[in-house]
Amino acid sequence: MAATPSPSDAPISGRHRIAVVGGGSAGISVAARLRRAGVTDITLIEPSDTHWYQPLWTLVGGGQAPLGTTRRPEASVIPDGVRWIRRRALAVDPEARTVALSGGAELSYEYLIMAPGIQLDWNGVPGLAEAVGHDRVSSNYAPEYAPRTWELIKQMRSGTAVFTHPASPLKCGGAPQKIAYLAADYWRKQKVLDRIRVILVIPDPALFKVPGWSQVLEKVADRYGIEVRLRSEMTAVDGDSREVTITDHANGTKETIGYDLLHAVPPQSAPDWVKASPLADPASAQGFVAADKHTLRHPSYGHVFALGDVANLPTSKTGAAVRKQAPVVAANLLDVMNGRSPSRSYDGYTSCPLVTARDRMLLAEFDYDLNPTPSFPLISPFKERRAMWAFKRYGLPPVYWHGMLTGRL
Ligand code: FAD
Repeated sequence: MAATPSPSDAPISGRHRIAVVGGGSAGISVAARLRRAGVTDITLIEPSDTHWYQPLWTLVGGGQAPLGTTRRPEASVIPDGVRWIRRRALAVDPEARTVALSGGAELSYEYLIMAPGIQLDWNGVPGLAEAVGHDRVSSNYAPEYAPRTWELIKQMRSGTAVFTHPASPLKCGGAPQKIAYLAADYWRKQKVLDRIRVILVIPDPALFKVPGWSQVLEKVADRYGIEVRLRSEMTAVDGDSREVTITDHANGTKETIGYDLLHAVPPQSAPDWVKASPLADPASAQGFVAADKHTLRHPSYGHVFALGDVANLPTSKTGAAVRKQAPVVAANLLDVMNGRSPSRSYDGYTSCPLVTARDRMLLAEFDYDLNPTPSFPLISPFKERRAMWAFKRYGLPPVYWHGMLTGRL
């Protein structure tokens, strides 16, 4: 399937057989799978002209990859034959089977795939929205700030560096701590680490959900002398005075710490218009879309499927999870379109490439039951490896652009 640009001015009128909301990792992967299966009537709703490969943003912030390699024109990743409507979805009415679009139009559909990703709630922590991008505050979670993380790391020779992780569900649960390890390893190599106090703030009772990897990460944090604050969360930032407030939920205390570098990861939720829609799962405090955890079909609206960061699934939100979800959604949607029950089942597979040094990585892969599901079963997944770091830096991007987004892998 050649990646020739699709027209971005496709007509909105008429009834669209399949509408896909969001042309990120999930929307493009599933559209490509459906095209390969011979489906002809697919409409993509995506406002952005840029497609991002976000997993490399950690290495952008760590000074190990240029931002430009993480971006491609959206038109170049849209599968041939998919209509592109370059507008933002503003609301969905699954009873009427319509999506309200920016610019005032309404699109009518038969089947809907929800893949608009996650929302970064910069206003969720007082002071954060004002401070990020200034005041020595950065974040790998947005492309406009990730290169700045590296600038701050490079400049730092002494002082206090704070790395935070929100208490909400987030995309790539490992990313908030990976950048702490990349920074600490850089400072160690520069022989300044003993002059820098590194604080890692984690809301959970352990560094990682799966005990085997958590134990390895404890040793990694120890190796760099990182002060780990578990069951804790950033609750305020004062950019002017360069102070961050950390609340310890275990004992209910608050501490205000002066910082010289703050890597902040904002709280995250479903996009506001999704939260307000009938598709939101009442069980999700962040308004993520309800989906059966195996079939990925909406429990109340059988013509709707959800995948990627927007879906309320009890697994970590990653691109690797999307890679396993896309074929399940494509196959199950085809089943439903043909009057059958969904036949494919997603097991919760997700993967977190835990970069632990500037040349080493742990590949944590697991399912809904937190059982390790290694892609390389002959080697221990609990050992930091150089080959894994090289795989993330040089192997996975082509797998993404040429395999996953084209529906081949
Ligand atoms: P996205 O890829 O974010 O795409 C959402 C799309 O929806 C976007 O194109 C957006 O423009 C569009 N959209 C938004 N609003 C609307 C609207 N109203 N209407 C229409 N379209 C809309 N994953 C890994 O597997 N490994 C990693 O190492 C890894 N590291 C990461 C590091 C960082 C710093 C970050 C930020 C993420 C990382 N991830 C990693 C996570 C991974 O990038 C996401 O899980 C993945 O991109 C989810 O795909 P998605 O399609 O659901 O969302």
